Amino acid sequence: MISIQENIRSFDTLLQDTSCKLIAVTKTKPIEMLMQAYEAGSKRFGENKVQEMVEKYEQLPKDIEWHLIGHLQSNKVKYIAPFVSMIHSIDSLKLLQEVDKQAKKYNKIIPCLLQIHIAEEETKFGLSYQEAEELLQSSGLSVLKNITIAGLMGMATFTDNQEHIRQEFRGLKLFFEQMKRKTLPAQVKLTELSIGMSGDYQIAIEEGSTLIRVGSSIFGAR
Ligand SMILES: *Cc1c(COP(=O)(O)O)cnc(C)c1O
Repeated sequence: MISIQENIRSFDTLLQDTSCKLIAVTKTKPIEMLMQAYEAGSKRFGENKVQEMVEKYEQLPKDIEWHLIGHLQSNKVKYIAPFVSMIHSIDSLKLLQEVDKQAKKYNKIIPCLLQIHIAEEETKFGLSYQEAEELLQSSGLSVLKNITIAGLMGMATFTDNQEHIRQEFRGLKLFFEQMKRKTLPAQVKLTELSIGMSGDYQIAIEEGSTLIRVGSSIFGAR
């Protein structure tokens, strides 16, 4: 039997002397399990579907930070804008413009991460390094007052080859550092590097992750 409480505690211990934080990925898991994580002190949850996140938000305590980590369609931004803490999956200027528009209605600033495609698989979403650099430098960005680009997110290739995963994370970290040195619009405040999941969080922490997104290692297989 898995103990959510014990799992959360071991992540607390692992991360206590680092600048990396845990996002407990709660997708597909029932409210009771989220409540167990909450009671063990976990207040930062990640979901990949808008409707599921809204339903869980409505039922749970209001001091939870909600992170949208999955692909986001522009027409669904309005449902999460009132409460979302961070959107990890920005992959176009158009989506960013919609987030800005919805955030404005609530007079808030929504921190966003650019999702970068670092894996070999074709199916994973995200921007290439070149597309990301263009977005960061685009004039369209400087007029958006209700978002910040708080950093970058990436998912490594699904492989047992640890060295391969490390190289992908290292490439993203290098790009992150290069972008930090550029003169970019005031909305760009690159502080977060969202890398690492159940299979590769140890490598991600070593390579400079500030946010690991962990699901099955806490809640069991989906
Ligand atoms: C599901 C998911 C995770 C967590 O995956 P685990 O392997 O269960 O830790 C992390 N990031 C994203 C974007 C996800 O969709």
